[in-house]
Amino acid sequence: MAVLPAEEKRKPYLMVEEEHPGDGVEPPVFRVDETTPEVVQSVLLEHGWNEFDKGTRDAEDEDWNLYWRASPFPMVEHANLKPWPQLNHHPRTAKLTRKDDLAKLLKYMKGVYGASLYEFIPLTFIMPNDYHKFVAEYSKERQMFGTKPGYWICKPAELSCGRGILIFNDIKDLVFHDTYVVQKYICNPLLVGKYKCNLRIYVCVTGFKPLTIYIYQKGLVRFATEKFDLSNLQNNYAHLTNSSLNKLGASYKKFEDVIGRGCKWTLSRFFSYLCSSDVDDLLLWQKINCVVILTVLTIAPSVPCAANCFELFGFDVLTDDNLKPWLLEVNFSPDLSLHCSTDVSVKRKLIHDVIELVHLTGPRNQGKGCGRAPQGDASISFANIDRGGLSNVYSSPPYWSFLQVTGRVFTKDEPTMEKGERTCSKNTQTSPLREQTNKQDVLLATREPPKTEPKLTSKHTPRKPFVPYRPRIQAHGCKTGFSLGLQPDSSQEPKPQAGNFLLIFPFNEATFGASRNGLNIKRIIRELQKLMNKQPSQMAKNETKRR
Ligand code: ADP
Repeated sequence: MAVLPAEEKRKPYLMVEEEHPGDGVEPPVFRVDETTPEVVQSVLLEHGWNEFDKGTRDAEDEDWNLYWRASPFPMVEHANLKPWPQLNHHPRTAKLTRKDDLAKLLKYMKGVYGASLYEFIPLTFIMPNDYHKFVAEYSKERQMFGTKPGYWICKPAELSCGRGILIFNDIKDLVFHDTYVVQKYICNPLLVGKYKCNLRIYVCVTGFKPLTIYIYQKGLVRFATEKFDLSNLQNNYAHLTNSSLNKLGASYKKFEDVIGRGCKWTLSRFFSYLCSSDVDDLLLWQKINCVVILTVLTIAPSVPCAANCFELFGFDVLTDDNLKPWLLEVNFSPDLSLHCSTDVSVKRKLIHDVIELVHLTGPRNQGKGCGRAPQGDASISFANIDRGGLSNVYSSPPYWSFLQVTGRVFTKDEPTMEKGERTCSKNTQTSPLREQTNKQDVLLATREPPKTEPKLTSKHTPRKPFVPYRPRIQAHGCKTGFSLGLQPDSSQEPKPQAGNFLLIFPFNEATFGASRNGLNIKRIIRELQKLMNKQPSQMAKNETKRR
């Protein structure tokens, strides 16, 4: 691969960097189409970007820095891309986001790499092809459990927003047309104030070759607006957590115990709620990190080389009362509309951080010599780190250790913490993780500090009081003021953090190496397995250190 001299590669950004609105030179330019979310446009405009004007400019010239739209780009757009503009989609990533395709991909991975790591998707059958397999499973369960019903959910493969979903426990109620998935219904969800919820985790893949995955620490938690009740499977307001559906329900505007008004929390508030109840929120976060990596790995080998693209996915994760995260689906172009103050606070900052992240990652050209770090191989790169390169910038431990010690969603003195999102403190109570409604919970909802902590625990070993801490990865360039694209960096090492994005892959030297020069999935999975096995002891050590 021909490596451009650093100055040449950075030129467009340097031009941008030198050009500030009002200086008589041009600010960076973004391009949109009719599908581009409004929030993307408004955040960019607020930060001095200009909108590409088709009337006065020539699109062929690619006289723009970023093109953001909801639908995928045709391959020709990728092929003709100049070295500096960024596209917000990689080619062929949408496969991950169809429910039936996701089930197939994960089934394949299970077959090749072993079922144990890929147990995070509920048992799924794709209709109509798997109908007989489903009937066999259903009958087997009936024989085993007699009259005690198993619950199933039937979802159209291509629809979203809870449309066309059916929950049933008797096969005679199953109706489907076209392509549906029938999935084991998770009937022991983690409840908050007796309400079911699921997590929207934003994930940004800044490159597939080499694979580079960031997780956003400030996602959303969406609630059902009626109490969870298995005796009424027809009540979508109790069983589905889609906001688009729940906001139409009669209970949406009511003040509900614990969850308050509306149907959304920030992820920070949720994790704060968990850890204040002595639930091992860090372990849950780490499991979610692994789910994300293992899921992205399913498509990584099939994504063609393409330069300068990134992908923002929305992972929908349901947590059960054993604190096991279940992947329900992955959304392509996750919803960025703003319907409430929680949306505004999370999604505006998300866009800001995505832009910061992709510009920090800098323009790369994966198109030629895919999978090769232009500056040498992984060992050279990490040798530099060891000699004081990155390790001077990132505090100890090295950045890849975040899966063990960082990734904390909630920190004590976090500036963007919502009012009422409390720090974790002394709590030693234990009780079933299934939510209890009690006075303390109501206090949480009213956002006043409770006199005693809410009682909520899992079937896990009770933990010692949690002492909040800051992630050990310290901010670097991206934190020194607002940059939004004005801080290019052409180095190949992925940045550990940008805004609220944290690097989760690669997470150590071995996975860094295994994602360069081709993707060694076997090796990566081995490393993930080691990591997951290490978690309990590592966590115990961290606890001791903190104390
Ligand atoms: P859609 O694309 O229509 O939103 P999802 O798969 O996200 O479809 O399902 C919608 C909602 O249904 C989820 O947010 C969740 O509340 C509920 N749900 C989906 N699958 C399951 C499942 N297997 N177990 C329990 N609840 C589920």
